[in-house]
Order: sequence, then structure tokens, then C-alpha cells
Amino acid sequence: MTELTKILLDETEMPTQWYNIVADLPVPPPPPLHPGTHQPATAEDFGALFPQALIEQEMSQERYIDIPGDVLDVYRLWRPSPLFRAHRLEKLLDTPAKIYYKYEGVSPAGSHKPNTAVPQVWYNAQEGILKLTTETGAGQWGSSLAFACAQFGLECEIWQVAASYKAKPHRRTMMEVWGGKVYPSPSNETEFGRSLLAQDSDHPGSLGIAISEAVSKAIENPGTRYALGSVLNHVLLHQTIIGEEALLQMAKVGAVPDVLVGCTGGGSNFGGLAFPFLREKLKGNMDPVIRCVEPTACPTLTKGQFRYDFGDTAGLTPLMKMHTLGASFIPEPIHAGGLRYHGMAPLVSHVYDLGLVDAIAIPQTECFAAALQFARSEGIVPAPEPTHALAAAIREALACKESGEEKTILTALCGHGHLDLASYDKYMAGEMVDLDLPDNVIQAAMEGVPNIA
Ligand SMILES: *Cc1c(COP(=O)(O)O)cnc(C)c1O
Repeated sequence: MTELTKILLDETEMPTQWYNIVADLPVPPPPPLHPGTHQPATAEDFGALFPQALIEQEMSQERYIDIPGDVLDVYRLWRPSPLFRAHRLEKLLDTPAKIYYKYEGVSPAGSHKPNTAVPQVWYNAQEGILKLTTETGAGQWGSSLAFACAQFGLECEIWQVAASYKAKPHRRTMMEVWGGKVYPSPSNETEFGRSLLAQDSDHPGSLGIAISEAVSKAIENPGTRYALGSVLNHVLLHQTIIGEEALLQMAKVGAVPDVLVGCTGGGSNFGGLAFPFLREKLKGNMDPVIRCVEPTACPTLTKGQFRYDFGDTAGLTPLMKMHTLGASFIPEPIHAGGLRYHGMAPLVSHVYDLGLVDAIAIPQTECFAAALQFARSEGIVPAPEPTHALAAAIREALACKESGEEKTILTALCGHGHLDLASYDKYMAGEMVDLDLPDNVIQAAMEGVPNIA
């Protein structure tokens, strides 16, 4: 029998619970701290930002959390998502390795982000919230939240990093099609934005700045809350539907990963795929190497420090212990916009610190070379972010070719690149350059990080 190419679950097989890795960690993760007192943050400290149900999930120790029925109904628009065996890529690479990829580009927004946007909006709606604010870089998160707000009738206001607002007009159009209101950040809508525009009327913005603007708007308005598309525990929790489905799909074909690789921006698609497999590893049911892949231009895990830092530039968010390049760090404009964040999910940082996962950084031209190999064999044009995971998977597969090992490699193809074709143009025209982050730039940004033991 030929082995399956597309491993599917039907709707009735879709998992109905999210997995919370906090319940199974050998050492509990360090708590978030109040930005003023530096004491462990309480539920009230988050109250102006998030609805109670999401704050409970953020602090939860429960191993499994039921997915609400209304959320499952929206998930069914595209879930369960397919798991592919990359037969054609394996053949192109002439490798004995078996490569599997879980494809999240089938969602309405074209990435994994609606997996958390939908429940976040639903929990806000349950508590009577009428409007959500957020930031977006390339526009993946903003479009996912706008889609989810349209599903449940909430208003959505989005601060898009100015450089992306200008360079990626089509994602803005998507946000507006779904009813979102989009501002370039820094904007004239907030005091912080106005102060930055006064210094530089052509300010390119950054994710940290856009978060500050969206957070300040939510704090000022009682019926408004803020939504974050990555980094936080509850976001990673929602994304575990990816890994829970992939476990069932791998089991269907009797496959067990030897290596699992995922791209890490804030850590949510990685945590979503990896944490259910890490649970099985901790239980002794399998023993995959689990690897984070980041860009050399924004090497949060491989070159950042594990310190308490702010999630935003203005210092409005609670302090989180995470791998960071410094909240004031503004990365070079690399093509994988979703990987340009100064910090990393505290949970991903913590499991990295415990040695349960490892991390590598890959330059963008190698990633785009991998993307062309992938697109020409498997057919799907990847988003720039998961090309990092694909490049790492290809490195592994080529090592297997050398050694003759038949390893099973699993990765997340967390989005398609249909709105990122300008980056492909640049690569194919030979105009893309690799950016290494000099140590003195990191040192300068780290100077602003608070000194907390
Ligand atoms: C946002 C985004 C990322 C980065 O975010 P994570 O939280 O690290 O997953 C990666 N890939 C795609 C397609 C994205 O939209």
C-alpha cells in the first residue's frame, strides 16, 4: 500500500479540549510581575486588559480546558486541518527521512492565528465587551482578530506597525473587509504615538510600540479590552489544538516524530504544535528532539537574555520572565514580519531554560531557498515565517541523507504566503540580504531592561 499523502480527521474526531502544559512541567514557570511594585501580578492587575475567563486561563494549572461549543462551531469552518506527508519534497531532497507538516494555512485568515482569535473574542463577548483593540505587524494577527470579531459582532481596532501598513496594503484591506478599523502605528490616536511622531513624522514603528498604543486605548475605555495574538499562556493554550490533532493524525499512520521543528516569533504556533508532543515526551511515550527556529536578525532565544521585561515599549504591560532582546529593541525589517518581536513566550522561554527544547537561528536567504524547494515540490507557497521551520526540516533531512538514518520529522506550516509575494520577488531578483544582529545593538537595548533578580 502506498503511504498516505494527506492524513485527515473528520469533524467528529476534532479534539474538544485544549492542553495546558503548566500542569506537567517539572518546575513551575516564574509568575508575571506588577510593573510598579514588582510583586507577582494578581488577576486584578490584568482586569483592565482581558476578560476574567482569559485571565483565569492565563493563570490556570488545570491540565485540560474544555473548548466552548460556539468556538468549536467556528473552528469547524477549517478544522481539523490536514497533516501532509511531504513525499515530493523527500524525493527532491533524495532523503530517507520522512517529513510531515501540519498545515494551518487553510483558515480564513491563512494562518494559525484564528485558533486563538476566535476563543478570545468569544470570551470577551460572554462578558459584555463591545470592542477589542490590538496591534499587528504584517497583518496576520489583525486580520484574524477582525475575522473573529465579525463572527461574534464585536468592534475591532487595530494598530498596524507603520512600515507594514505601507508595505502590505492588502492585509489592511482584509482587516477592513472583516469590519476592522486600522491605524498606522505610531498614530495620532494615543499620547505615546503622538510623542513618537513629534520626534520622527516618518517613524517606522515596531510591534512593541503598537502594543503600547492598543493597550492604552483599552485601559482608557471601560467597555473595551485588549487582545494579544501570541506570547501569553492563554494564547499558547488555544493553539494546542494544532498539536492535539497532529498527535491523532500521526497515530493514524503509526508515525512518531524523532525531530519536531517550529518557527518562533512570539512562540504560539511552536507551542501549539510542540506542547502536546512534549507532554508525551515527559510521560516517556516518545523522545523527539524539539527545536525552535528563529531568524538571525531577531535571535530572541539564541542571543537574548532570560530576564523579566515588558511586553511593550512604553512599559504598560506586566513584567514577564522571558527571553528578550530588550523592549526598546527595533529589529531590522526582515521579510518574516511575524518573527520580529523582542520577546518570547514565557512558557517557551521556560521550557528552553529547562533544556526540554533547543533553538537555532537561520538567515533569511536560506529560508527562502527552502521555500522555493518546498513550493515547487509540495505546491504550497509558505508564509515567510514558517520558511524558517522548513529550512530547519530540510537541514535535518539532508543530514539523514548523509547518515542514512530514516528519521521522522514533523513541522508546522503555520500559514500560506499569498500576501507575501513581494518578499518572494525580492528573493528571486537576488536582492535579499542576510542580516546578522551585532552584539552592541543587543547590549544597547538590554540597558533599558529593568534589573530584577
Ligand atoms: C504571527 C505569525 C507567526 C509568529 O507568531 P508565533 O506566535 O511565533 O507563532 C508565525 N507564522 C505566521 C504565519 C504568523 O502569522
